[in-house]
Parts: sequence; structure tokens; C-alpha cells
Amino acid sequence: MGANFVGLLHAGPTIAAEGTAAQRARWLPPILRGDEVWCQGFSEPDAGSDLASLRTRAVRDGDDYVVTGSKIWTSHAEVADWCELLVRTDPSTPGHKGLTWLVLPMDAPGVTVRPLRTIAGSEEFAEVFLDEVRVPVANRVGAENDGWRVTMVTLSFERGTAFAGEVVACRRTLGQLARAAKENGRWDDAALRRRLGRLNAEFAALWRLVQWNVSEAEAGLRAGGDGVPGVGGSVFKLRYSQARHELFDAAAEVLGSLSLDGDQEWTAGRLSSLSYTIAAGTSQIQQNIIAERILGLPRGR
Ligand SMILES: Cc1cc2nc3c(=O)[nH]c(=O)nc-3n(C[C@H](O)[C@H](O)[C@H](O)COP(=O)(O)OP(=O)(O)OC[C@H]3O[C@@H](n4cnc5c(N)ncnc54)[C@H](O)[C@@H]3O)c2cc1C
Repeated sequence: MGANFVGLLHAGPTIAAEGTAAQRARWLPPILRGDEVWCQGFSEPDAGSDLASLRTRAVRDGDDYVVTGSKIWTSHAEVADWCELLVRTDPSTPGHKGLTWLVLPMDAPGVTVRPLRTIAGSEEFAEVFLDEVRVPVANRVGAENDGWRVTMVTLSFERGTAFAGEVVACRRTLGQLARAAKENGRWDDAALRRRLGRLNAEFAALWRLVQWNVSEAEAGLRAGGDGVPGVGGSVFKLRYSQARHELFDAAAEVLGSLSLDGDQEWTAGRLSSLSYTIAAGTSQIQQNIIAERILGLPRGR
């Protein structure tokens, strides 16, 4: 999936659910063909978990918005053609209100991308600086100042269904580990076998959970709803990101030392696995959502 993750799995689905017919016709076919790459411009230096405090401003000027501000942790920004961009259109209303979801052309004058290097040496995400960038009003998805609701649609897809392919890949990785353990003698260790067995059950359950999220969305669509996955996405995302981290910890035990000069693929997998508990909303934020919206517990302060 790689660089097409955003377009295919949450920007595209958001446009399918919330865009106009013209927007769907313009943006969905190139996403499906893999011709155009998308990135996500939500997080800012002072707005991550508390995304609604973002400050990037968009001021209406005729048929354009003029956008000024900065975004951070924008995955694949350096290769992206388009960005799903969350901006503040009404500065007089703080928090969730007064936000708007725009489609930013990454080649527009005033867009500067500065790559950020990760501990693994890759430059897969970047800072994006926006200096009076003109974005056509026609690129607005949803109504002006209704961007928080549209963003919840994006995050529902990102958390609920976007990682489906990765669950399949993790199950394959688990099979590789079991084979490697049989070859290198580690399979005799009953504790390790239990650990791999438990992970196997976890990923089987996660696969069922992602199927459930897709079925729920599809049933909603057939009943005249919007086809957007529900809050179950937070349950999936919380457990998937932790299970993925545990999988690469188990890999280190099976394969011996996965040091920085070891096998690149396994090492990169292990180093990046922790980031899954942060990207698309941290584990603590998913726990807050589950506590409040599923368990009905009182809101935290
Ligand atoms: C690999 C990766 C890729 C990413 N790609 C993108 C991208 O393409 N586009 C994009 O916009 N963003 C992206 N992000 C950013 C990501 O969405 C943010 O890092 C995340 O939302 C957390 O925000 P923050 O880093 O500002 O941490 P903070 O919000 O500052 O959080 C710091 C710590 O405080 C905890 N915390 C904060 N608030 C609460 C609370 N209310 N209750 C309990 N605990 C709390 C957090 O859980 C965390 O442990 C990416 C991140 C990673 C790791």
C-alpha cells in the first residue's frame, strides 16, 4: 500500500461519503488507478491529540481560500499530489467549530515541504508550511465550518478499516516466525510457542473485528446511512497497534538480536511498530473514546 494509504483508505472513502458528484469524479478514479498520491494535513506542532485546537487559517477571497499555517508529521508529503487538509475558517469559534476540510494541491505556490528523518533513517514524513496558498472553494468537502464532522468520517475510516491489509500481512509474518522458530530450535521453548499462539488468536480476532467494521458500514449504507464505520474502529485501532508491537517484539526473540545493523526489514518493522500506537490518534485517545462513547463513562477533564 505504502504511499497510497491515505488516498485509497481514508481520503478517498471520505470523498466517496461526503464529496459532491464532481469531486468524486475528479479524485476517486486516479486514486483507484494509483495515479495520484495523497497525504493528510491534520496535525500541527501544537495540535496533535487535541486536534481541534489547530490554528492553520483559511480566509475566503472570492472563489478561493487563502491558507496560512503549518502542519507536521505529514506522511508521504514529499511525493503527494493532494492533501486532505483541516483548517480554521472561523477564528471566532474555538475548538471543534469553525473548521473546514479542504483538498490542497501540493504543487500550489506557497507550499513548502521539509522532510523529517526517523530513527530508522527514512524520510517518510515531513513538515508542511503553507504561506498564503490559494485553494479553490470547489475543493472544499462538506460545508464551511463543518470540517470536524467530515474529519470524524476520515478518522473512522482510518481507524476502522484502513489497516485491514496490514492485519493480513501480520498474520503472514506470524507464520514466517513460526517457521523460523522451528528451523532455529526456538520452537522447543513452550513459553515462546504460547506467545506466538496467543498472537495468532489476537490477529484472527482482529481480522474478524475489521470484517465486522466493514459489514456494519455496509449495512448502514444499505439502510440509507452514510456507509461510515462506527466507533468500533477505536477498539480495533487500539488493539491492532499494540498487537503489532508485540509481534515485532516476539520476532526479536525468535530471530535473536534484531540490532540496528541486523536484517533491515525486521529492524525497520520493529522500530516502526511503536509508531502505530501514536499515528491516527494515540492509544490513550482511543481509550478515552472507548470509555466515553462505548462504555458511557464520564468525560475526562
Ligand atoms: C508514524 C506516524 C505517522 C503520522 N502521520 C501523520 C499524517 O500523515 N498526518 C497527520 O496529520 N498526522 C500524522 N501523525 C501525527 C499523529 O496523528 C500525532 O502524533 C498524534 O495524534 C499525537 O499527537 P502529538 O504527537 O502532538 O502528541 P500529543 O498530543 O502531544 O500527546 C503526547 C502524549 O500525551 C497523551 N495525551 C494527550 N492528550 C491526552 C488525553 N486527553 N488523555 C490521555 N492522554 C493524552 C498522548 O496519548 C501522548 O502519549 C503521524 C504520527 C506518526 C507516529
